[in-house]
Amino acid sequence: MPRKIVAGNWKMHNDLSETETLLKDLKKQVIPEDVTVMVAPSFTNLYKAFESTREHPIQVIAQNMHQSEKGAFTGEISASMLKSVGVKTVIIGHSERRAYFNETDDLLAEKVNAALESEIQVIFCIGEELNDRENGDQYEVIQNQLENGLFHVSEDSWEHIMIAYEPVWAIGTGETASPKQAQEMHQFIREAISKQYGKGVSKEVSILYGGSVKPANAKEIFAKKDVDGGLIGGASLKADAFIAIINAFE
Ligand code: PEP
Repeated sequence: MPRKIVAGNWKMHNDLSETETLLKDLKKQVIPEDVTVMVAPSFTNLYKAFESTREHPIQVIAQNMHQSEKGAFTGEISASMLKSVGVKTVIIGHSERRAYFNETDDLLAEKVNAALESEIQVIFCIGEELNDRENGDQYEVIQNQLENGLFHVSEDSWEHIMIAYEPVWAIGTGETASPKQAQEMHQFIREAISKQYGKGVSKEVSILYGGSVKPANAKEIFAKKDVDGGLIGGASLKADAFIAIINAFE
């Protein structure tokens, strides 16, 4: 069975003291045992966040990484640097990285390889733009993103991979895919994985939904058969809202 996962992507929000305060508030809450909770602070706050959650089930993850092991890449962070501060999971291919930092499928495929080689788990983000959906091209876009960025990995690697389906038109916009739209796409993704790797892989992989998830809509979305949790942006910055989402599984 796929793991239930709720991951908070804190993006370029929260300085060190704000990060510590948010974590303090989250740690006061009881987290259901069957839900894996992750938070992705900015790079500068990873180590403190890791230290602060050492005795707590919250996992600290990274928002991005560079594909090279080391070298003259000013401003970049490698997999081994992430590992050295306790990070075991990285988000790769977020639509903001694709859109604002020109991250292509080929580059993302390299990042996936670099993470897996360093034994870092990957949350691989995919999602169509509004005009793709309006043109009815959403399935083709998702299939291409999977084929070009992810389907080169070995079958064994899937143990370390999660998918986040995040329709770009729903990220930070207040627009959410309806639970039906989310289920349709999650089912499509699971079937695509099944065709490529077999049912044994597809029935175990966690597929998270992301795009304006909030306490008011999380329950309905998480109730869908192929939705195994969420990647949460805005609502993960408020402890109360994030905790309500973590508790939204039936
Ligand atoms: C995200 O950035 O991954 C995201 C889903 O953001 P939001 O929840 O704010 O739409």
